[in-house]
Amino acid sequence: MVEFCPECSNLLRKRKANERSFLVCKCGYQHEILDNNLKIQKSVQKKKKDLEKNLVIISEEDKISVNPITKKECPKCHNKVAETWQVQIRSSDEPSTHFFKCVKCKYTWRE
Ligand SMILES: [Zn+2]
Ligand SMILES: [Zn+2]
Repeated sequence: MVEFCPECSNLLRKRKANERSFLVCKCGYQHEILDNNLKIQKSVQKKKKDLEKNLVIISEEDKISVNPITKKECPKCHNKVAETWQVQIRSSDEPSTHFFKCVKCKYTWRE
């Protein structure tokens, strides 16, 4: 990495001090070289955080029921409205199983 002094356009020289690297010029100008590894680590951490954020959003969406509501009598409380969804249990050749969840007592059963 070659850099030139923004003040006098001379070539900057690397100098280490206290485990930190600086680019220095004979005119007195200097700036710190940021550790590349540190930068990468930071961006990875940021990505991780973004991922976690997304995960949280997904799980929040999960809590909100997106299943369609159907007219179905609950075997437990005889309420006539239930959520319904399908689950493919074994191979794709077999028909998927219908699940129902009573909107009143939350009882879940399958058919
Ligand atoms: Zn300079
Ligand atoms: Zn019920």
